[in-house]
Amino acid sequence: MRPALLNPLFATVDSLTGIGPKLSIALSKLLRGGDGKELAQVGDLLFHLPSGLIDRRKQPKIMEAHEGVLSTIKVRVDRHEPPPRGNHRVPYKIMVHDDTGELTLVYFRGQSRWLDGQYPVGEIRYISGKVEWYHGRANMVHPDYVVAPENLDELPLMEPVYPLVSGVSPKIMKRSIATALSILPEVPEWIEPSILDKHRWPTVQFSLNSIHNPQDILDISPESIAWKRLAYDELLAGQLALALVRSRMKKSAGKSWRGDGRMRKAILNALPFALTGAQERSVKEILSDMEQPDRMLRMLQGDVGSGKTAVALLSAAAAIEAGGQAAIMAPTEILARQHFASTQPLADAAGIRLAVLTGREKGKAREEIYARLTSGDIDLLLGTHALFQSGVEFKNLALGIVDEQHRFGVHQRLALTSKGGAADILVMTATPIPRTLVLTFFGDMDVSKLDEKPAQRLPIKTNALPMERLDELISRVQSAVANGEKIYWLCPLVEDNDELPITSAESRFKSLQNLMGQNVGLVHGRMKPAEKDAAMLDFKEGRTRVLVATTVIEVGVDVPDATIMVIEHAERFGLAQLHQLRGRVGRGTKQSTCLLLYKAPLEEVAQARLKIMRETEDGFRIAEEDLKLRGEGEILGTRQSGAPGFQIAQMEHHGDLLEMARDDARLILTKDPELQSTRGEALRILLYLFSKDEAVRLLRAG
Ligand code: ADP
Ligand code: MG
Repeated sequence: MRPALLNPLFATVDSLTGIGPKLSIALSKLLRGGDGKELAQVGDLLFHLPSGLIDRRKQPKIMEAHEGVLSTIKVRVDRHEPPPRGNHRVPYKIMVHDDTGELTLVYFRGQSRWLDGQYPVGEIRYISGKVEWYHGRANMVHPDYVVAPENLDELPLMEPVYPLVSGVSPKIMKRSIATALSILPEVPEWIEPSILDKHRWPTVQFSLNSIHNPQDILDISPESIAWKRLAYDELLAGQLALALVRSRMKKSAGKSWRGDGRMRKAILNALPFALTGAQERSVKEILSDMEQPDRMLRMLQGDVGSGKTAVALLSAAAAIEAGGQAAIMAPTEILARQHFASTQPLADAAGIRLAVLTGREKGKAREEIYARLTSGDIDLLLGTHALFQSGVEFKNLALGIVDEQHRFGVHQRLALTSKGGAADILVMTATPIPRTLVLTFFGDMDVSKLDEKPAQRLPIKTNALPMERLDELISRVQSAVANGEKIYWLCPLVEDNDELPITSAESRFKSLQNLMGQNVGLVHGRMKPAEKDAAMLDFKEGRTRVLVATTVIEVGVDVPDATIMVIEHAERFGLAQLHQLRGRVGRGTKQSTCLLLYKAPLEEVAQARLKIMRETEDGFRIAEEDLKLRGEGEILGTRQSGAPGFQIAQMEHHGDLLEMARDDARLILTKDPELQSTRGEALRILLYLFSKDEAVRLLRAG
């Protein structure tokens, strides 16, 4: 149960005075994304930090005011000059002066009643806005502020600027945040006093107040002590949650799985290749973890084509030899089916009883799989996230493997960890994730790396060419087809879209079909599962030679004798995605080519991406470059999968705090594993504050 203390922060924004239904939706769109129907909370508003500052501290005399510079000026009102009746094209003018000269205030479509009230003739007013000079005369169009001397404190000399959306003006934003700040509860301190002292970090309350009411540009810098403190809070909450999950997993273990090697031997005999050194080493690391009574939590990192599947299968075999069951979860139906098809002969050779479970298995077939799982008649289950839905009960799950991990969000990860009571967990990822990101999103995981590609692979030749050379490219593809080669042709969209000047997969399919007839196939995400399978199988078995596709083939699909990858509108794909797509070729022993077809002119970032693609095939280098070009959130595909991004912390400013938060989190749990001390209680509040409720639930009640 969330402590009542935090309730005001978790109330939706419409609960604040002055925020009505319309504004709530506009604010929620800004703070939460989407269509705004899911209302943002007061806390989101407080964590919406300024991106800039308006400085109204310059208070010149009229004659000293610089052109175009924000100025706050004390003036006396002389006279009003309303436009002639009915003529709205002429602005409403108000003449004011100080002891250096005259200034004209200009209001287009000014309401004379309102202006009369604001500017009584003969009175002193402070106005703030930009002064413009015409023919030696000073003008100010629509001053931002006009206040009487007794209300001078209503004129903010330093005004934070927030990222905005339509429907939320700067004034409304400021007012909403001020209201939110006014109900900010006192929270107990959760940061260790020695850390606070060392960095001279202020309290949460002080930090939020100083960032939202800045007195200086330094106050809104991510490098300010206030911002750093809040970033640390956010990172600490994340690291503490991950450390809790991890310590619970390790604790709930107690099973050691050690196979006798007979199934592994059968698989190795049936494989048409010898393992690479990296594969052997990874299998060894995994098996030695599985033999420990502690629960395994290991990540297998290996670039596309590095042979993760074989490692997964051998690890699963070891679990099965030891009398347990294993499960491999893939992110898409196509992949799950592909794994199933390629694993079947190996499983048969080893005497492993295999089944597949995706959204497609329904009714009786599904019930039957459930029953066989519970009775232990299935050794290895392949599938999509359907694997971890309720109803699926294993008799004795020893090993859960998640393929292409970065596609899954936190929820699936937690579901997975809760499923098999004490199962070891192996997550596999093709996107080489920089160390800091592993730490952020997965906590302190053990990592095995496939840093060696299967032998005999030739580097892929990568070229970029403009759309104008399409005809040339097509004739090249035609002669490749005549030579018996297989070609992927990637398009960004399924169907034509009137708003985008892009050839869709469907129209590219039609135009290529006109030229090459039956040789051309099509696969995209809107097709029925059975149609997708059939299209993939036709391509794999050579009945089609050109497969026009959308990114459904992005992850994992394996057609080893495909040698050409055409990516149309390559400028529209991210770097990680281009790399994944390119990895679909170059899997066999023949020379492969990747052709990046782009529409000129290229924007700078797109140009940089294509350049990197031509320069390197090194997944790690590409991941680092991608991080530079796009920022960390997108690398993991978190925008789609709903993993937690950060509201406050920014890796380029706060990266060094991450390791500190990890160490702190570890230390905290060693000293106080159930968070029961006074500081522990405060840390529970921190976890709730950053919505780590799932982690708190892992703690013993009370
Ligand atoms: P990924 O790591 O992208 O999942 P896969 O497991 O799909 O890679 O393997 C890519 C291709 O390389 C497959 O065709 C697979 O059969 C082949 N392969 C895997 N290991 C080896 C090896 N040691 N030697 C040769 N080919 C291998
Ligand atoms: Mg794979």
